[in-house]
Amino acid sequence: MAQQEDVFKKIVSHCKEYGFVFPSSDIYDGLGAVYDYGQNGVELKNNIKQYWWQSMVLLHENIVGIDAAIFMHPTTWKASGHVDAFNDPLIDNRDSKKRYRADVLIEEQMAKYEDKIQKEIEKAQKRFGDAFDEAQFRATNARVLENQEKYDALHKRFQEVMNAEGGIDLEGMKQIILDEGIVCPISGTRNWTDVRQFNLMFKTEMGSTADGASTIYLRPETAQGIFVNYLNVQKTGRMKLPFGIAQIGKAFRNEIVARQFIFRMREFEQMEMQFFIKPGTELDWFAKWKETRMKWHQNLGFGAENYRFHDHDKLAHYANAATDIEFHMPFGFKEVEGIHSRTNFDLSQHAKYSGKKIEYFDPETNESYTPYVIETSIGVDRMFLSIMCHSYEEQQLPDGQTRTVLHLPAALAPVKLAVFPLTKKDGMPEKAQEIINDLRFHFNCKYEEKDQIGKRYRRMDAIGCPYCVTVDQQTLEDNTVTLRDRDTMEQRRVAISDLRGIIEDKVSITSLLKKLL
Ligand code: ATP
Repeated sequence: MAQQEDVFKKIVSHCKEYGFVFPSSDIYDGLGAVYDYGQNGVELKNNIKQYWWQSMVLLHENIVGIDAAIFMHPTTWKASGHVDAFNDPLIDNRDSKKRYRADVLIEEQMAKYEDKIQKEIEKAQKRFGDAFDEAQFRATNARVLENQEKYDALHKRFQEVMNAEGGIDLEGMKQIILDEGIVCPISGTRNWTDVRQFNLMFKTEMGSTADGASTIYLRPETAQGIFVNYLNVQKTGRMKLPFGIAQIGKAFRNEIVARQFIFRMREFEQMEMQFFIKPGTELDWFAKWKETRMKWHQNLGFGAENYRFHDHDKLAHYANAATDIEFHMPFGFKEVEGIHSRTNFDLSQHAKYSGKKIEYFDPETNESYTPYVIETSIGVDRMFLSIMCHSYEEQQLPDGQTRTVLHLPAALAPVKLAVFPLTKKDGMPEKAQEIINDLRFHFNCKYEEKDQIGKRYRRMDAIGCPYCVTVDQQTLEDNTVTLRDRDTMEQRRVAISDLRGIIEDKVSITSLLKKLL
């Protein structure tokens, strides 16, 4: 685990050193859980967004996009339930003065029991080798049974307090923390305050106070911008059910515990798609979207073993199915995307609060009804983090040296091709520029002439550039260059006229999208 944390720290500093992610307002020492994307980060982020947008809007005839404003009428958030219920239960440690999410403290305690079980299993696996029978071991080993019993009891109590009548049972939650002997990781004490609810929405005011300013919120999710536009899009686009509306945009949450870099931010970006369907068909569509979204993730080639579904047993009162797609980060399997069957909750609430009729007239059955919704909701920044974590490698080379390389999927890489003149003379820089001038319309190219070729390769490896081309003496004679592959480091001689054909297909988002069909 300590080793994994080390790797994570290195990824965070790599992101800063190579222009991917900077702390916000860095010269003023940053702002808690807010980050800026640098020259390479913004390219990677844009490519992720393009991969998602095109997979939704280009590949589905019945999905269209919108771009709703961040500020919305305040009643939106009353109707959606966010004003009354978008809360996190928080608890303070009186000695360290640190604040925690009470539910997270309990979940971490459950993870500790799971870890202990896993360690016993791994030890036994090593001892027994091929003869190891995990099911039998789990059923008979005393230490495993003891930890499983503790886990089950805690899980049951946790479910009870989270699903208590009238909302979360805050006293019950504190009691669990005391009974489990959970200590503050900073002070090491159990000197806890009571658990309180804390609303995560940022508030501001619109208009001047003299004219009676109204309180408005920075949206905590992009979804409501879609729901309030359902009628506009359905009518003007003459959309027939089932159909979807996709949107990419910023969301804001005043997260209490904001750590793990860009995993949990106060300002972040979401890619959400609400799919409107006929009531009664939701579980089929839920299953279909689970499969479609998992395929989108796995299509990046990071290995199926690094993903899993985490089906919710605690459902929001309006949902009838929900799952997370989790990715194996250096700090464990963590949610990257949520898929929710939201019934007709949001549209009905907006109908109620706005007084407008929000329904769909089904020409096949001649009836009107409020559509049901399946939502897919993914964080751009978490996706960015998962890609960075999986791509980062400190590689030992056969000659004893090491290199830091980002094995980014070529279609997502910020720079696709770097072109180097071997030396700064004999017309090599001009030739290199000529190549770039020709290819820059097709993909992002970069020119580099400083330092030895080896150093230039390393700099490109560190930003995940999949291809480097070197112009040398021979190029001036026969118009061929060496083309070097980032992952294998192999170099081959190719004609300049073949470069576009060799590279374009490998680095285009289109090639990724084609694999989805
Ligand atoms: P968590 O349980 O981690 O707080 P959530 O279940 O509240 O997340 P959703 O409301 O389902 O998250 O939001 C959908 C997606 O938005 C998440 O899967 C995640 O990728 C992203 N997301 C949510 N909150 C944040 C945040 N604070 N920072 C970055 N991304 C976020």
